[in-house]
Amino acid sequence: MSRPIVATIDTAALRQNLAIVRQAAPESRVWSVVKANAYGHGIDRVWQSLSETDGFALLNLEEAILLRERGWKKPILLLEGFFHSDELAILDRYRLTTSVHSNWQIQAIANAKLSAPLDIYLKMNSGMNRLGFQPDQVYNAWQKLRSLDNVGEMTLMAHFAEAEKAEGIVAPLQRVERAAEGLNCRRSLANSAATLWHSQTHFDWVRPGIVLYGASPSGQWQDIASSGLQPVMTLTSEIIAVQNLQTDDCVGYGARYRAQAAQRIGVVACGYADGYPRHAPTGTPVMVDGVLTQTLGAISMDMIMVDLTPCHQAGIGSKVELWGNSVKIDDVASAAGTVGYELMCALAPRVPVEIR
Ligand SMILES: *Cc1c(COP(=O)(O)O)cnc(C)c1O
Repeated sequence: MSRPIVATIDTAALRQNLAIVRQAAPESRVWSVVKANAYGHGIDRVWQSLSETDGFALLNLEEAILLRERGWKKPILLLEGFFHSDELAILDRYRLTTSVHSNWQIQAIANAKLSAPLDIYLKMNSGMNRLGFQPDQVYNAWQKLRSLDNVGEMTLMAHFAEAEKAEGIVAPLQRVERAAEGLNCRRSLANSAATLWHSQTHFDWVRPGIVLYGASPSGQWQDIASSGLQPVMTLTSEIIAVQNLQTDDCVGYGARYRAQAAQRIGVVACGYADGYPRHAPTGTPVMVDGVLTQTLGAISMDMIMVDLTPCHQAGIGSKVELWGNSVKIDDVASAAGTVGYELMCALAPRVPVEIR
């Protein structure tokens, strides 16, 4: 290996996180959400570690087809359904369950020539105003679909905008119950936050994503610290150079950090072109040789400078953890004003990935 940066995927952590989800929602079946290339972990790398799941949820046809070609026989849910009616032939061929959120999709299903009925997730808008039928449109849409020979099993689906908050599910859940009146339907509502924190949302199928990868749906690691969930991705690299600063010496582009006294700093082989957030300010946590320290100055495309003051042993070749078990991705993300979801998804293709 040349450049020392590597992302390691902990398959045991994936299995354990799925088991923890099952314990949290013991009466429900589980859609493991593997959209966005399994939140940046690589769907082809991780799906077997999640094979105890009841189904996989994603939104790219390419990812769905890959799972079928690898031999996955259980359900696959397209979270956003199909984007054009000609995709229905592929849904039919690969037996994909589809979300239906708009009237044109109902019409397309009615007109399609299918080899067998498709299972449907009727998506309702429970207040987020992203995808789905309004509560008062659900009954008619449901009955229209129910009357079609092309439709098999049906489930009512909704999504929460604020499930990480104590009261965040109250109003949406009321809208769901209003929409479901008289339908006697299966339901799938819960994302990670609702799966962990609101058992009244569990119903037939839960749809956890971020918790499978061991980060917090609230963005705060402390909210899941006692859950047993474990980070799946560890991003590590090495110190490739050391500089000894004098008082008033500056660091990096824009001279954004200035030394207050003599200070030893290290240069890490990782930058924003690897997926590290460019907005991470001075003070973002990082671990060098097992010692917690901080970034200094601007993040460059290929390098990060770090404070070696507390790392007396550290030098060229010292191991650096950018995020993982010791430095939580949630803490790096919140320092940079974002969420763990974005950092995972942004892992760059140039970073080699190892499976453990
Ligand atoms: C992404 C997504 C999920 C999973 O969300 P997490 O917060 O990662 O658990 C569930 N349902 C839908 C519709 C989604 O788009």
